[in-house]
Amino acid sequence: MTDKNENLFLRAQKTTPGGVNSPVRAFRSVGGTPRFIQRAEGPYFWDAEDRRYIDYIGSWGPAIVGHAHPMVVKAVQDAAARGLGFGAPTEGEIEMAEEICKLVPSIEQVRLVSSGTEATMSALRLARGATGRDKIIKFEGCYHGHADSLLVKAGSGLLTLGNPTSAGVPEDFIQHTLVLDYNNSQQLEDCFKTHGKDIACVIVEPVAGNMNLIKATPEFLQTMRRLCTEYGSVLIFDEVMCGFRVALGGAQSLYEIKPDITALGKIIGGGLPVAAFGGRADLMANMAPLGRVYQAGTLSGNPVAVAAGLTTLKLIQEPDFYTKLSLQTSKLAAGLSEAARKAGITFCADSVGGMFGLYFSKEIPTSYSEMMASDSTKFNRFFHLMLDAGVYLAPSAFEAGFVSAQHDDQIIAATIIEAEKAFLQMNG
Ligand code: PLP
Repeated sequence: MTDKNENLFLRAQKTTPGGVNSPVRAFRSVGGTPRFIQRAEGPYFWDAEDRRYIDYIGSWGPAIVGHAHPMVVKAVQDAAARGLGFGAPTEGEIEMAEEICKLVPSIEQVRLVSSGTEATMSALRLARGATGRDKIIKFEGCYHGHADSLLVKAGSGLLTLGNPTSAGVPEDFIQHTLVLDYNNSQQLEDCFKTHGKDIACVIVEPVAGNMNLIKATPEFLQTMRRLCTEYGSVLIFDEVMCGFRVALGGAQSLYEIKPDITALGKIIGGGLPVAAFGGRADLMANMAPLGRVYQAGTLSGNPVAVAAGLTTLKLIQEPDFYTKLSLQTSKLAAGLSEAARKAGITFCADSVGGMFGLYFSKEIPTSYSEMMASDSTKFNRFFHLMLDAGVYLAPSAFEAGFVSAQHDDQIIAATIIEAEKAFLQMNG
């Protein structure tokens, strides 16, 4: 008898390229059959065979309060009953903007969009429009969505497929994209010395989560801030993943650095499509209808999606939310490291807020090249052993993992027990 997931995968491949609507879901790098998910609740989801998994991807970040949180579901139901979308402004959008500006003080004005890709793409256009310059700086292994000029030496799904630059992006489009090494301040200084007056912006994941988890050094981000100010370039923090994930005020609150523009996504939609870009009011004044930088969206600020996002933003402001989330995530990282050590497996783990990284290497990587040197074959083995045991990790050695507020001590302990068994088997 064939597994229902296999049947669904075969069926999906007939009408959808590779059977999936986003490449990493296809399990290409880890091999095997993707699980087709039928429902989720709290820290768990269930596949087509009704097998339960402890979920450590949380919809790739958004599910920070756990899946199908009753208050989020209720808000969505209430909003849906009032109408699914109007293409005209609503009070909910104002509330959402007010909430974002309150929680992230560098954001004085914000525009809602529907995906992280749109947020970074629009932020880039804004930076170019405001400065009248073309060149942008990005860092190898950072992923900022799939806009043309950002699909160069990117992370996430492109890394997973072993091809960090996409086909179909004309050379002409990327001639203005300068790609530098993450955490290399000297290279950044040198680049600004040569090209400074032409650089519209620097875009960075201040905590990188698309080449596994790699933290920026404070000095790297400080250098970036100083150079952008000195040369009149716009500093864009892409906090689509780390915003409201590593801390309530995002990575910028941890590093105490004020970017000019921030891109947000994932958590601010609470599982539905909401993303945003915002920052200095004088820069945002360049956006249409006020200014000459155009950007728009039929579904931007959709009332049902905004209801999910707004409720999620309220829930994460509960007292000690991030203290508890960080503690659970660091318990997971420490427990997995200890389990590997006992089994004699070369492995380490790191975490920040509710985000974690697992590395089959001796040391925690600090750069793209160090990350690439880790053992992805070992990761793939570990991934499948854990999957078989009912623990769903990201199906790629290059993705970060996510813990939700519903991952309590018992869930973390159960995960570590399965990891101990998996590591022992790997050494067997
Ligand atoms: N920026 C970062 C840092 C991301 O992690 C992602 C997606 O994972 C994006 C941008 C793109 O967001 P979306 O997939 O919503 O287009």
